[in-house]
Amino acid sequence: MSESENKELTPEKEGGLNFVEQIVADDLKAGKNGGRLSTRFPPEPNGYLHIGHAKAICMDFGVAEKFGGTCNLRFDDTNPVKEDVEYVDSIREDIHWLGFDWGDREYYASDYFLQLYELAIRMIKEGKAYVDEQTSEQIAEQKGTPTQPGVESPYRNRPVEENLDLFQRMNAGEFEEGSMVLRAKIDMSSSNMHFRDPIMYRIIKHPHHRTGDKWKVYPMYDFAHGQSDYFEGVTHSICTLEFVPHRPLYEYFVKELADESYCPRQIEFNRLNLTYTVLSKRKLLQLVKEGLVDGWDDPRMPTISGLRRRGYTPESIKSFINRIGYTKYEAVNDISLLEYSIREDLNKHATRVCAVINPVKVVITNYPEDLTEYMEMENNPEDSQAGTHKMPFSRELYIERDDFMENPPKKFFRMTPGGEVRLKGAYIVKCTGCKKDADGNVEEIYCEYDADTKSGMPGSMRKVKGTLHWVSARHCMDAEVRLYDRLFNVENASEVKDRDFHELLNPDSMKVVEHAKIEPFLAENAKPGDHFQFQRIGYFTPDKKDSRPEHLVFNRTITLKDSWQKINK
Ligand code: ATP
Ligand code: MG
Repeated sequence: MSESENKELTPEKEGGLNFVEQIVADDLKAGKNGGRLSTRFPPEPNGYLHIGHAKAICMDFGVAEKFGGTCNLRFDDTNPVKEDVEYVDSIREDIHWLGFDWGDREYYASDYFLQLYELAIRMIKEGKAYVDEQTSEQIAEQKGTPTQPGVESPYRNRPVEENLDLFQRMNAGEFEEGSMVLRAKIDMSSSNMHFRDPIMYRIIKHPHHRTGDKWKVYPMYDFAHGQSDYFEGVTHSICTLEFVPHRPLYEYFVKELADESYCPRQIEFNRLNLTYTVLSKRKLLQLVKEGLVDGWDDPRMPTISGLRRRGYTPESIKSFINRIGYTKYEAVNDISLLEYSIREDLNKHATRVCAVINPVKVVITNYPEDLTEYMEMENNPEDSQAGTHKMPFSRELYIERDDFMENPPKKFFRMTPGGEVRLKGAYIVKCTGCKKDADGNVEEIYCEYDADTKSGMPGSMRKVKGTLHWVSARHCMDAEVRLYDRLFNVENASEVKDRDFHELLNPDSMKVVEHAKIEPFLAENAKPGDHFQFQRIGYFTPDKKDSRPEHLVFNRTITLKDSWQKINK
């Protein structure tokens, strides 16, 4: 299909298919490539994957799954300076966690270095490529502008033999980095800037994590990507919109290899951009290197590993991506939509527990001193199969400091002297007063309980306006709780150019509570990967790195409600 036909395709879903799926469906129907469907996900192992990559992964693997094709994992490892095996391993883990699998089809662009080199040699012999000895500045200057043709290099017409000799010696390590490049001889006055004698190879003398010191010349993205697709038999090479202007060059190089029976095809969709978030790997690396976050998997990072540690589920990420969809128009997506998706998922699946983040003691003065009752608590009202667990109740409890006010404003339906509230799953209590220290801080609150109001008893039907969560002081355990919030407090964080990046960071993106009080059921059952709703507070997960049985650490995945909406309006 030609470029103009491609442009006419509407991005709207037709018959439940997005525009990429529609192209694939049409190609399969037309019997192109012998009816085969093969895609690839091509990360460069120079950083951890982020939520933007998840959008690409869901597309590349998703379309293959939907139409019975296959998706390869291809590491685009053409720049040894920035790449590392740590990144390779994390990328594999993240894709698996999202629920996709590439079987035995794990490939590397470096697998094709010999084939690419041989193609370059052939193109030199055919007069289609030349060695340029100008500096990169000179080459850039001669490039021209979209409205002004470029200037031809003085080396452009050097003899084939000379080009061959120099290119081979470039690869033998005879020349310094930056002293020469191999360029395709195409058209210095082309209206497409990418056609103005693009660079095919540069000299890099840094060892490669897979090929060691074997190569001294490394192919550029444009000379590697399409051909790698071709070598793997990829039929649909799906990427993001910034590659639209590269497409003619993709086709140009692929034509050196392909014929009508099989030819890979590039299709572009809009990349994911998120408010209050940066997705540039360079900036994410800077956050890690400067120690502004606790590594690539810091729960505030937009990386897949960060989201996982924060408590996001693969389902919530996929449902978010499904909601925003795939189009041909650049857009910025609202992060509250991602937050909505995780709330929706956790509401269905998270076990309800009690934890008190900022505790103050309550004494039920008319409750027997040595009595413990075990209250039956629902694990999840949204899930009839989730069952119940027991929570101890005794004379001394903790409630949230915020849930008590001595002199409250109107409509304060929580605890206040003379007022009644329900303690969730237990009794209605009436507050009789409090004790304060010399500075006026509340030290202890006193209540009397109404024994007839226990859950399940007739008196439990009595209505009071407020219901509070609580834990038994004698039975609860301590836990560290990390209250995470957005990492940036500027909506268009990735676009701001006139302010220092550091100024955009949210100073309150992590608050640590050292001694929250949690019910014993939570302390005994919390395992990494579990999800809990701390009633009335939010969704939490045990921290994978730091939580241990003797020192539990919980990360706040998300608050129960979107508190930013109010602030920003
Ligand atoms: P860079 O090229 O700066 O290293 P990158 O984000 O393009 O960063 P790659 O590893 O090259 O990183 O990306 C792998 C694939 O993921 C590419 O196909 C790319 O188009 C896609 N991708 C990257 N960022 C996004 C995004 N924000 N939204 C959707 N797809 C993305
Ligand atoms: Mg890239």
